[in-house]
Order: sequence, then structure tokens, then C-alpha cells
Amino acid sequence: MSEFCFLGVNGSIQELHGGNTSLLIRGIEGCLCADLSCNLAAVIEAEPDVVVLTHEHIDHVYGLPSFLHQSWLKGRKKPLKILVPTRMEAIPEEMIGLFRLREKKGIFDITVSDEKVLYVGSLRVETFVTDHTQTSIGLIVEEGEKRLVFTSDTKPGLSLPRADVLIHEASGLSIEEETLVKKGHSSGVDAGMAARETGAGKLYLCHLPEEGKYKVLKDAQRAFPQTEIPKLLKWYRV
Ligand SMILES: [Zn+2]
Repeated sequence: MSEFCFLGVNGSIQELHGGNTSLLIRGIEGCLCADLSCNLAAVIEAEPDVVVLTHEHIDHVYGLPSFLHQSWLKGRKKPLKILVPTRMEAIPEEMIGLFRLREKKGIFDITVSDEKVLYVGSLRVETFVTDHTQTSIGLIVEEGEKRLVFTSDTKPGLSLPRADVLIHEASGLSIEEETLVKKGHSSGVDAGMAARETGAGKLYLCHLPEEGKYKVLKDAQRAFPQTEIPKLLKWYRV
């Protein structure tokens, strides 16, 4: 049974006790991390096989060099694949190059890939195009019959597959819809509507605003009552 654990649920602005949106997903075998920013100690301990960077915005990628460096210091030997959208390969490569990470003595193998479908242990992972930047992606993660869908950042209106669990961004309230969409984001109500369309049993919100996240939650619950804001560092089952 696959499980997931949030490292942060905030949008671009961090809080004292909360960081930018990123999460670990693990199966019976295999683990991946979707975006890299805060709570890196938990990521290093989980030793993900794959790190996915969903798009190039700073709040989704800035943790990468420190994650690689700390994993090396902690003696990681397992190879790491960094999965990115096509045409985003230069971003991890430049961060790796800037800190000369591949020159560290005995550092594990690091590859950058733009595969669209891959297997991570018992997890089947497929990427899909989202409506946020020119190259942004979301993730469909399956183990057996169970399916988790993670939109990362996106405008509303994606055609999403059936999901048991939907993790959708919710950057603001529906009264702010016009501004949100201009910036490539969705409201809580958009997330709730998407959850209905996917037939999800549960909706988890992320990429929440620094202030007013519980108002966004209430807004989303009007459209989809089985919505919650995940607690950080807690494992949830799909
Ligand atoms: Zn973004």
C-alpha cells in the first residue's frame, strides 16, 4: 500500500513552522520525493530513489543541492535519479555544477532524466502536463489498484484521471480566482471541483497561502467535503 508524507504545504512564502510544498511518496518498495525544499532531514532519512522537480520555480527546487550534499555526507550509496520535465534538465545540472557536487569523493551516481513513465520499486509513476509554466508537470503514482494524483502548481481545468487520493494546489480563495488564474494557480473551490471529477475519496490541499489557509480549506470543503490540509511529517495511506 502506498503512503505519502508532506514536508511542507505552503506556497512560495514559508512560515516559522511550515515550509514550501513538497512530499515523499513510498510504496511497498521504492520511494520518491516530489519537489525539494524544506525538512530535508526527513528526505535524507527516507533515501528516495527518485526526486521529481515538477517545474522550475524556486520554491520547488532550491533544496536540491543541499539534499545532495547532505546525502553524500550521511554516506548515501544508492544512485539517485532526478526526474524533470523535458527542457528543464539544465536547472538541476547547473545547481550540481555550481557546487561541484559530482566531484565529491565517492558521491553516489546522479542522473537527470525526462522520462514520462517509470517504475520506482513497486510504484508506477507517470507524469502529465499541467497548466502552470511552459514545462510544468504533475504526477500519477499507482501501486496495485490504488492511484494518487499530485497536480503540483496549476491553473484549474486540467483533465485529470480517476484518483483515489487527489493532492491539489489551492493558492487562494475563489473570490481571488481571476488573480490566481493569471498567476497560473487554482483556488480551493477549483481543487474541490477537480476532486469531484476524479472520483477521489479524499482531497489534500497544498501550496496554500501564508495567511488564511483555513479559509481556503472551508472554501474547498464547500465543493468537496472530504478535504483536508495534511499535517507535516505524518504518513497518510492512499
Ligand atoms: Zn510554481
